[in-house]
Amino acid sequence: MNAQAKSRRDHPSPLAERLKDRIARDGPISVHDYMETCLADAHGGYYATRQPVGSKGDFITAPEISQVFGELIGAWAAATWQAMGSPTPVIIAELGPGRGTLMADAMRLFKTVPNLADRARIALVETSPVLREAQRQTLAGAPVRPKWYERLEDVPPGPLIVIANEFIDALPVRQFIRVGRDWRERAITVDTNGGFTFCAGAAVEEDALPPALRERAADEGAIAEARPGAIALLATLAARAKDAPVAALMIDYGHDESGFGDTLQAVRGHRFDDPLASPGEADLTAHVDFAALRAAAQRLGLAVYGPMPQGEFLLKLGLEARLARLCRDARPDQKEALLSGAARLADPRQMGVLFKALILQSSGLAPPPPFGEI
Ligand code: SAH
Repeated sequence: MNAQAKSRRDHPSPLAERLKDRIARDGPISVHDYMETCLADAHGGYYATRQPVGSKGDFITAPEISQVFGELIGAWAAATWQAMGSPTPVIIAELGPGRGTLMADAMRLFKTVPNLADRARIALVETSPVLREAQRQTLAGAPVRPKWYERLEDVPPGPLIVIANEFIDALPVRQFIRVGRDWRERAITVDTNGGFTFCAGAAVEEDALPPALRERAADEGAIAEARPGAIALLATLAARAKDAPVAALMIDYGHDESGFGDTLQAVRGHRFDDPLASPGEADLTAHVDFAALRAAAQRLGLAVYGPMPQGEFLLKLGLEARLARLCRDARPDQKEALLSGAARLADPRQMGVLFKALILQSSGLAPPPPFGEI
């Protein structure tokens, strides 16, 4: 799914200028550092400065498509809490909550579960001040008042349930390109016309690649990807799981086998864009390598379930019953929106298969829903 160049901007953004200065001073910048700067730079970074999610933003996500998504994830969190033995208090943390829609829908569900709304503490892990403000507004009338944290490491200790929808895909990737017998760090430099272009940087050790790709034969120019921030996140979960029960649900788009290929993509105004065209003004993501996450989680001693296709996951969590309930009280136009939204989430030709759910938890806990019921 390569991004296509749609347009080159006439006026470079200040972030583009700063990146060019940095390259002139220090040499090519790795894909990882480019992605990190474009997304998180405090002054020109995409998430740091704008509200990207929703029909008026650049892209739409599952909780923005249908309230059923957040409600079913809420049902998952409630059932997981019960499967843990209903520890009190429990922290339910969401990573990268966007506009706060998923948590608002999930909390509506928490109110229907005995004791949960009284016993749960809600932690939102969000770096963007703009999105924190959006979350504050969305959750103003929620039954539990959330607390915000910069990083998962800052969330207080104790039993923990983590929800992350389209969070991992926004964590920067390193890319490696095969040149002769070496893997080299893929990087970005400035060409003779003054535009950004990819280049091959310093050689890297093969153990920088995901384990499944290390020994595999690669053609000249092949690209491999790794996501250090995701592995660090798993290590944080595994460390917490030593002291208290932990369960984490990660839903994202990606592949369930590691493979070669460039999956870096930019989306702007609901269309693919050239990832180098407008630094800080387009959303940059890369596919999630679920096989690499699974392998890393297992090495860290976590129990791993999935990835399960999103459609199957939602159906097993009770999508049809929830829809039927909502449709009973809906006007005909609302009913149509509910049905088409649910189809978009679950249909294999839409988000049902490309998006996948992965659950990681402390070893020794009962299998999480919906795996336990199979
Ligand atoms: N989960 C939401 C939004 C997805 S967009 C939804 O489904 O609609 C990605 C979210 O992750 C944004 O809220 C963004 O600000 C946040 N984010 C990206 N990188 C982050 C990081 N390193 N730490 C915390 N939040 C981050």
